[in-house]
Amino acid sequence: MRENFPFKRVLVTGGAGFIGSHLCDRLIGLGCVVEVLDDLSTGSVHNIEHLRDHENFRLTVGSIVDDHAVAVAVDRADVIVHLAAAVGVRLIVENPVRTIETNITGTETILRHARKKKRPTLIASTSEVYGKRTEVPFNEEDDLNLGASRRPRWGYACSKLLDEFLAFAHHRENGLPVTIVRFFNTVGPRQTGSYGMVIPRFVTQALANEDITVYGDGSRTRTFCHVQDAIDGIVGLLCGDDCHGKVFNLGGVREISILELANMIIKRTGSSSKVVTIPFEKAYDEDFEDMQRRVPDLTKIHDAIGYEPCRDIEQVIDDVAEFQRNASSS
Ligand code: UDP
Repeated sequence: MRENFPFKRVLVTGGAGFIGSHLCDRLIGLGCVVEVLDDLSTGSVHNIEHLRDHENFRLTVGSIVDDHAVAVAVDRADVIVHLAAAVGVRLIVENPVRTIETNITGTETILRHARKKKRPTLIASTSEVYGKRTEVPFNEEDDLNLGASRRPRWGYACSKLLDEFLAFAHHRENGLPVTIVRFFNTVGPRQTGSYGMVIPRFVTQALANEDITVYGDGSRTRTFCHVQDAIDGIVGLLCGDDCHGKVFNLGGVREISILELANMIIKRTGSSSKVVTIPFEKAYDEDFEDMQRRVPDLTKIHDAIGYEPCRDIEQVIDDVAEFQRNASSS
């Protein structure tokens, strides 16, 4: 726990979401006054129920594309953490218009008001911006390799990339203190599998002893990050002396194939599930394209704030399984 967190009033957009709600918990613990702006579209009041009566917590149900709601919330804050976005591969593929409009208009609105009020702002981006790169690890200075525009997944990557460009533009042109974070497969309790995320989906299947649905042949790899490590990173970047006008990868260290992940989840939950493979075009559609590998280079964030993830993939799985068991028994 940091004793000298430099801000009192924090606006968290998307604070009822998975990462956002964990950040709110941490900030309340640090003694901050936290305001959440969330339209509860993919987030849920359940995630923040335990904070609702806390004297330092306020929930504003509203959209990041609502100019007035954003103006009022930004005015009340000393610092902004902008996490609200359309996320999850399934949502992105099924709702491409909403994805692009939310991500671009929402971030444009937040940055415009942040600039007016000169509020330091942390903007959430994603490892999706690295696109189809296969040389790992991905470094923040790398060229980016997105696919064809008819494939909706790249529209999502492009919308977050435009958010990054706009944030850099505000820093360069207006001196806005802005920091950009590229999250890599953040996982933990409260994450829902409804929008595609693989670990909550596999854990749900394993706990029900149902088939584990691996898309493709299972050779794709990801590097998962426990949400509490991600929160350590966000808080560290907010406290950092020299993080403005910069983009940082934030993620875990162990690259794992989806097939190995499925088998590990079966083993750790004591499940009798079997692994089945499903072609990508059946899981999504013919326009779907998946990334082969994804590993973050964490040198920059380590050098800036000493970030080192300390929770392994086994702990991620155990914590997600425990959360789901408790949720189904309550
Ligand atoms: N995946 C899978 N089965 C599922 C959901 C996802 O095999 O039920 C795969 C997916 O194709 C991808 C990996 O797991 O290769 C991670 O998917 P997720 O949607 O969690 O994140 P992202 O693709 O954005 O890394």
